[in-house]
Amino acid sequence: MLCKLAKGQTECGTEKGVAHRPTIQKELVTSQKNNQTNYTTMAARRTAFHIIDHTYDVVVVGAGGAGLRAAMGTAAQGFKTACITKLFPTRSHTVAAQGGINAALSNMSEDHWKWHAFDTVKGADWLGDQDSIHYMCKAAPDAIKELEHYGLPFSRTEQGTIYQRTLGGHTTDYGKGGQAYRTACASDRTGHALLHTLYGKSLQHDVNYFVEYFALDLIMDDNTEECIGVMAMCMEDGTMHRFHAKNTVLATGGYGRAYFSATAAHTCTGDGGGMALRAGIPIQDPEFVQFHPTGIYGAGCLITEGCRGEGGILRNQEGERFMERYAPSAKDLASRDVVSRAMTMEIMEGRGCGVNQDHIELHLDHLTPELIQDRLPGIQETVKIFCGRDVTREPIPVLPTVHYNMGGIPTNHHGEVIKPTRDDPDATVKGLYAAGEAASASVHGANRLGANSLLEIVVFGRACANHIGQHCQPGENIAALPMDAGEQSLRDVDHFRDNQGSVSTAELRLDMQRCMQLHAAVYRTPTSLLEGVEKMDAIARTFAKDVKVHDRSLIWNTDLIETLELRNLIAQSSATIHCAERRKESRGAHAREDYPDRNDEQWMKHSLAYFDFEQGTTRVGYRPAHQHTLDETELKSVLPHARVY
Ligand SMILES: Cc1cc2nc3c(=O)[nH]c(=O)nc-3n(C[C@H](O)[C@H](O)[C@H](O)COP(=O)(O)OP(=O)(O)OC[C@H]3O[C@@H](n4cnc5c(N)ncnc54)[C@H](O)[C@@H]3O)c2cc1C
Repeated sequence: MLCKLAKGQTECGTEKGVAHRPTIQKELVTSQKNNQTNYTTMAARRTAFHIIDHTYDVVVVGAGGAGLRAAMGTAAQGFKTACITKLFPTRSHTVAAQGGINAALSNMSEDHWKWHAFDTVKGADWLGDQDSIHYMCKAAPDAIKELEHYGLPFSRTEQGTIYQRTLGGHTTDYGKGGQAYRTACASDRTGHALLHTLYGKSLQHDVNYFVEYFALDLIMDDNTEECIGVMAMCMEDGTMHRFHAKNTVLATGGYGRAYFSATAAHTCTGDGGGMALRAGIPIQDPEFVQFHPTGIYGAGCLITEGCRGEGGILRNQEGERFMERYAPSAKDLASRDVVSRAMTMEIMEGRGCGVNQDHIELHLDHLTPELIQDRLPGIQETVKIFCGRDVTREPIPVLPTVHYNMGGIPTNHHGEVIKPTRDDPDATVKGLYAAGEAASASVHGANRLGANSLLEIVVFGRACANHIGQHCQPGENIAALPMDAGEQSLRDVDHFRDNQGSVSTAELRLDMQRCMQLHAAVYRTPTSLLEGVEKMDAIARTFAKDVKVHDRSLIWNTDLIETLELRNLIAQSSATIHCAERRKESRGAHAREDYPDRNDEQWMKHSLAYFDFEQGTTRVGYRPAHQHTLDETELKSVLPHARVY
């Protein structure tokens, strides 16, 4: 059993120095800092929840790479920091990252952070915010050196410097100088090494972990519209925890599980996005979902792009290296959306492999066994387990598989969450930050380049911590909690446990995943998108009115937790398909048959989706994408042009 006792808690689960009383039936008892106790009559609620109050300078939700870097950064500056996570930190999905992390270190050949920025803008198909891209690419070399100093066991060159491989879409000299070797890695287990390094380092500082706690909602002050904390539930014993905090950081990862076939773990349910939507904050650019070209056919597990970076080749049924036709220069190392579309075309035109001609083959069998053993040992093992094949002798059957959400909670390059107002498309929410795959900074725009995500999580996790450090002092006063703070979360939990619906969570989840897989796929057609919108709206309505939770308890109730996760997934699936249907162009990962070209005049703007949880309806708006850099004298913005590789 994992340790649930957070530092600063006593064994009965109450925080040191704060008086607590057990809740009284049908009354909410709140304990405040001055030890006063307030009572609110709760006749409408069935359960007497045991509520525990906590007060922190910073509460971080999520202990993946982004959450750990943010939490470590604030704790190191002396802020009293809590980190809430539904998984043990080192089980966070960052652990699965394989290929590596980008930075222009120039260890293998000449490189420059400005070339990295150029590639990122182009990879993002001009939907990325160029100020955020400027910030990230410039910060990258120092971020990698920092990780090295923390002890991350990077693979090495013979000279002892950090080894760097090449991945798709990375070039030198602004696309004119050939492939860049920019991706630092720890063999093909970079995420594992990174996550363990950051967790170990965070223990050096005073981060209070709340492990296997499920964050339910943000606590917002309705008058000032600032965020003043988070409601969470301890999954082990069902106690409810109200975290009152000056600053809250959402680092809850992506929502890959909206789809049937995904490289993401079952825990990637976009809970932070759901929390933001419930607080009236939109989700940005959800229609841009990255399909990784090489998920294992059938199983969906990832085969890293590092395989092609090390010389792997994609071939169709005729044994042809078809990428030469689609991307004559970059070939197999064109950007992910380009390769995924090419593979889909080959299959659609009858040149797929296997009895059903429904997949493509990735060949590593021409590489030496020593190279595979040294650089891709995890892949060799994964393929053996999931396909029963030996990569040194046989090809790997692969298919484009959902891999990454470019969209998320909108933020600026400091990590501050953006909630646009009528007058200000960049207005921020006081006290609220987001980082990592949960966020949209937006460095990936319409398509993420491989190995830019691990970079994003450390750079923007750190940016959140730095911004908090620049604008707050440890121990500063926090706006008082409203009398009903957290009340809605308790009502919602009771609603699901009491609901006499007729459709199980598992059934609805499958309906949603099938709908998204079919209607918001690599290629999107107008009729299919419209059909998908109707189906998703119906699924959202059914969930709102008719979902049935079988287990009514509060103790380790996975049925309830999966229902709360599904609530978040449905909101973001709806946002995804609505925004995809609305966007009448093809850009990055969003490829429409009826609008095959990018339309900069009308669509170089971010989509914003708002979701009404009671009605299950989605509303779509827009805000301009930033086409300016942080400093045009240092880095000129890249003007839009045709995206060819
Ligand atoms: C198979 C695979 C391979 C990849 N390889 C690479 C690569 O080589 N390079 C690269 O750049 N990118 C890669 N990516 C992408 C990258 O790994 C992820 O985007 C990134 O690790 C996400 O990190 P994160 O910190 O944002 O979220 P995560 O690591 O997913 O962490 C999310 C955290 O939030 C917590 N959480 C979520 N919901 C709640 C809740 N309700 N309450 C409490 N806690 C909650 C979880 O417990 C977890 O700690 C890969 C992705 C996959 C799927």
